Amino acid sequence: MTTAEKLYEGKAKIIYATDNEQIYLTYYKDDATAFNAKKKGTIVDKGIVNCAIASALLQLLESKGIPTHFIEKKSQREMLVKAVKIIPLEVVVRNIAAGSLCRETGLSEGEKLPSPLVEFYLKNDDLNDPLLTPDRISLLNVATEEQIKELQTLARKINEYLREFFQNCDIILVDFKLEFGLDKEGTILLADEISPDTCRLWDILEQDKQKRVMDKDRFRKDLGEVESAYQKVQQRVLAQTEKLKNS
Ligand code: UDP
Repeated sequence: MTTAEKLYEGKAKIIYATDNEQIYLTYYKDDATAFNAKKKGTIVDKGIVNCAIASALLQLLESKGIPTHFIEKKSQREMLVKAVKIIPLEVVVRNIAAGSLCRETGLSEGEKLPSPLVEFYLKNDDLNDPLLTPDRISLLNVATEEQIKELQTLARKINEYLREFFQNCDIILVDFKLEFGLDKEGTILLADEISPDTCRLWDILEQDKQKRVMDKDRFRKDLGEVESAYQKVQQRVLAQTEKLKNS
């Protein structure tokens, strides 16, 4: 398969067309951004690490019956995916209070939520990805009521599978962001990536509040040792994936 034109370049990935119009090629970059791209930098080999982690996690979810865009890991930084039209929503699932939830509600970081929270943000950098209400979703026509219900159900299921998987990696899945797309038939597929860029992950084996951070908060908050934290996540995710394959 030959790669053709660049369709879209995002903060962490480039999407290329292929000679099959139903298939895109995703290239994972090392570029890192935070605070709506106000902070920019590079995390060495992040593209390789995130491509490996996202491939493993999307495959895991697919094996559990979650429809995803994943087709095949093509190289260290490249993944073949089904062509979808991204729904302009960031679906955030939270198990433990952190980040914007703490800033906006006064909950303390680390507080366990009574049940997982599923939230919808508008995917729009110019507007700073605002939190949406059900009425605003319907006003903006970003998704139908039925699609929103399906996204909530999928997000909750994905959370259950990922939370258990990460628990077995000695990692707490604090919160994460998902993106979904529609294929040609209008079927909702889980798209984008799941990686330390898009999840908050805390090391169960570390008590120290800074040392336990294994995700992009190390970059956001200048905690140092970003690369080694991402690599540790990769090692544990791949080891657990192998374990599941052999069981
Ligand atoms: N997140 C993301 N992309 C975004 C916004 C959030 O991947 O544009 C992830 C983030 O890494 C975290 C979760 O979604 O795992 C919740 O983020 P939050 O709303 O707390 O925002 P933040 O505090 O990062 O601004």
